Amino acid sequence: MTINIILLGPPGAGKGTQARTLVEERGLVQLSTGDMLREARTSGTEMGRVVAEVMDKGQLVTDEIVIGLIREKLETVDAPGFIFDGFPRTLPQADALNDLLAGMGRQIDAVIEIQVDDTALVDRISGRFTCGNCGEVYHDQTKPTAKPGVCDLCGSTDLKRRADDNADSLKTRLLEYYKKTSPLIGYYYAKKQLHPVDGMAEMDEVGRQVAAVMDGIGGR
Ligand code: AMP
Repeated sequence: MTINIILLGPPGAGKGTQARTLVEERGLVQLSTGDMLREARTSGTEMGRVVAEVMDKGQLVTDEIVIGLIREKLETVDAPGFIFDGFPRTLPQADALNDLLAGMGRQIDAVIEIQVDDTALVDRISGRFTCGNCGEVYHDQTKPTAKPGVCDLCGSTDLKRRADDNADSLKTRLLEYYKKTSPLIGYYYAKKQLHPVDGMAEMDEVGRQVAAVMDGIGGR
């Protein structure tokens, strides 16, 4: 049996952080279209250049590109289950994902919606930085590194801020979320696949709520 889940929520909700825990604790594979696009933009291709421009403004990349990236991963990566992180972000992407999974005899087992107050998002995003080596996520105020400039987990000094984690891009990213992604909440509710968790709780508590959903759907 395979388990496939979607993490849904606005930028800064904590999708990536929760995905990392699920990877570590349950052996699922994280498919983050944001990570794939950040890799694509360094490729030096025309597609990479276009993607970089769109991402830096905080707009959504075309459905065609992101669906293509997900299709390629699903065709090449073997896993007991996938965590879709930041995908789907539009209704056409959601339909395409259903079709792709159905073609593999798989399905979405749960959509975990991480609910966060809009007012918290700006603070969360503007203080955020990650380790370029191991991917650990930090925050200037709420989760600084123990030693300035050094990752607590792997000791790397390659700490990075995302180009789109600034107030201007965030405004566009939020608008894009409400216009194009939030309709997915109703879509998955109607399909009886939606599981809301309280993204304003402490990180461990959010993790417990996510774990309870996973246990409820038989996610090992
Ligand atoms: P994320 O890392 O998920 O916050 O994504 C960063 C940026 O990548 C977004 O602001 C979009 O520009 C782009 N992106 C990521 N996933 C998608 C997607 N599913 N559809 C369209 N654009 C995406």
